[in-house]
Amino acid sequence: MDNKGIKGEVSKELVLFIILIIVIGGVIFWVNRSDKTTDTSAKETTTEEVQDENGESEKVEGEAPKEETEKEENEVDFSKLSDSEKLGSDGLPILMYHFFYDKTKGETAKDGNWLEVATFEEHLNYLEENDFYFPTWQQVADYVNGKIDLPKKSVVLTVDDGEESFFKVALPVIEKYDIKLTQFLVTSWNGWFKNDYPAKQVTYQSHSDNMHKAGADGRGAIVNWSYSEILNDLKTSRSVLGDECIAFCYPFGHYNDNAKKAVKEAGFKIAVTTEGGRAKKGSDPYALPRVRTSSSTTLEVFKGLVN
Ligand SMILES: [Zn+2]
Repeated sequence: MDNKGIKGEVSKELVLFIILIIVIGGVIFWVNRSDKTTDTSAKETTTEEVQDENGESEKVEGEAPKEETEKEENEVDFSKLSDSEKLGSDGLPILMYHFFYDKTKGETAKDGNWLEVATFEEHLNYLEENDFYFPTWQQVADYVNGKIDLPKKSVVLTVDDGEESFFKVALPVIEKYDIKLTQFLVTSWNGWFKNDYPAKQVTYQSHSDNMHKAGADGRGAIVNWSYSEILNDLKTSRSVLGDECIAFCYPFGHYNDNAKKAVKEAGFKIAVTTEGGRAKKGSDPYALPRVRTSSSTTLEVFKGLVN
C-alpha cells in the first residue's frame, strides 16, 4: 500500500515536472524569438539612422564608387585607341614607393626610401592634372600578355611593406586626389591593415605572408625555402587578402624560377621585382621591373619617370 502510494505520488510529481518543463521551454522559445525580432529591427533602425545622417547609407557609399570605377574602366575602350593614343613601346611605368614623412610635423627621412609627403602630393597632383590612367593588375597582365593596349598616359603606383607612415601620412593625400594605388602587405606583419584602412583607392596585394626575411644564405626566404614552404606562405597571404589579390611583390626583389613557379601556382597573375625599367608587351608577367622613387624624386624627376 505504502509503496503504491509513493508510486502514485512520484508519477503525479513526474507529470507536474514534465508540464513545468514544457511551459518553461515554451517561455524560453517565445522570449528568444521576440529577442531576434527586436535585434533585426534594431539593426534596421541603425542602418536607417546612418542613412539619414549621411544622406546616403554607408553601404551605398561603399558600393557606389566601386561600380563607378568599374564603369569608368569599361568606358576606356582599349580596342579603339589610335596609335597616337596608345601607350608607346617604351612601356608602362610601375612606380615603387616605400615610406613617407611629414616635415611640418618635424619628421625627417630615415633613409633614401622616405619621401616627403608634400612631394608625394605634387606627384599625385601632376598625375591628376594630366589625366593619367591607372590600370588594374588584370589590365597590366593583359597588356604584358599582348591581349590589350593601354592608354598613352598610364601608370601604376605601388607602395611596399605596409609601413605605418603610409596609412598615417600618405593615405589622406591619396584619398584627397582619389588616385588608385597598390599597397603590398606582408600579411603576417600587417595583413589586418586591409580591414583597418579600407580605402577605395587602395588595392591590397601580397608581399608574402612571412618571407620578408633572410634565408640560410642571407638572401630572401623565397630563394631559400623549399617549394612547398614557399607555396604555403603564398597561399596563406592570398587567403588573408582575398580574391582581389592577384599581384605579388618579391621581398627584396629576390626571385628565381622556383619562386616564379610557386607564385603562379598560388594563383597570382603577376609579380613585380625591384629591377629597374618599364613593363612592356611581351615582358615576363612573373618578373616585371619597376621604376624606383626615393627621397630625391622631386616633381621634375617624377615627370621624367612617368612620361
Ligand atoms: Zn619589402
